[in-house]
Amino acid sequence: LSVLLLTMPQPPALFADLLRAALPGVPVWEAAEQVAPEAVEAIIAWRLKPGTAGRFPNLRLICATAAGVEKIIDDPALPPAVAVMRTVDPLVNLGMAQYVLLMALRHIRALPLFEAQQRDGAWTRHRPPDPYSITAGVLGLGEAGRTVAALLHAAGFNVIGWSRTSKSVRDVETVEGAEGLASCLARSSVLVCTLPLTAETRGILDRRALRRLPQGAYVINVARGGHLVEADLLELLAAGHLAGAALDVQETEPLPPDSPLWRQPGLTITPHIAAQASAASVVTQFAANWRRLRAGQPLHNIIERSRGY
Ligand code: NAP
Repeated sequence: LSVLLLTMPQPPALFADLLRAALPGVPVWEAAEQVAPEAVEAIIAWRLKPGTAGRFPNLRLICATAAGVEKIIDDPALPPAVAVMRTVDPLVNLGMAQYVLLMALRHIRALPLFEAQQRDGAWTRHRPPDPYSITAGVLGLGEAGRTVAALLHAAGFNVIGWSRTSKSVRDVETVEGAEGLASCLARSSVLVCTLPLTAETRGILDRRALRRLPQGAYVINVARGGHLVEADLLELLAAGHLAGAALDVQETEPLPPDSPLWRQPGLTITPHIAAQASAASVVTQFAANWRRLRAGQPLHNIIERSRGY
């Protein structure tokens, strides 16, 4: 039985040799047309078109090349017996945290203002806020959220974190549930989204939630574009309720050239680059689970299909 690579937009060739080296003797295919459907026991993919998984009767394991799996499990015909694993990479968590810190500090230290002053040759001082006077709210306290929270705290932010189940995280005030979210939003001058995209979290940053943020708040989305209702964000930016936002992810990717997001003052748009797992990291984790599968051992980093992450 063999492994099929459906990793586009990353070329399958990036993974194929690493996989052959990690699992000698296991056939690796770089396109579905190359292999008989019955021979495929595992698929490594970034996204699977609905209906794809059902074509492989002996499929047992799907490995997402990313931390998020919404583009894989969004298939009503995905057989329940197929396990779905995600890639968990400390370097990805650190990359996310670096991105968040960069955007958060750029905002609270007023870098765009000083850059504008430099263009005008204006040597005008503005006092930065005192450390720990700014509260940053982190939605999601998983692999990424905890790393983001730790770096924000180390950089002098007061940090609140929101998760589904109750958590205890060093240096972070943790809250959960609807009430916890309301209180987190009401106090967060910087709001960071690190949630997985699920039925419960899609559209969570809508007009109602964004209005709860303090006047002049700044939003950083490094999770998925679907968490944020972009029209609502634009409306609250135009109304002056929000100071700005950094969006590494957008509802439609690539973001179309005519999207109003590109030209809205206060918005920083990046093309989903906060962090990406390396092919080596994906292959190492997949190969370890493949061996566990063969040995009948419990698999690691398997997501719970019913909760969507
Ligand atoms: P994770 O370890 O699964 O953590 C998810 C966190 O979100 C957990 O704390 C979970 O709560 C919380 N959560 C989930 N549903 C919730 C709900 N309905 N209400 C409140 N909290 C909820 O995921 P991760 O590895 O941190 O990754 C998070 C997401 O980041 C990924 O799904 C992906 O979309 C995104 N990402 C983006 C990039 C990028 O380059 N922009 C890179 C990597 C990942 P519990 O702790 O209670 O379960």
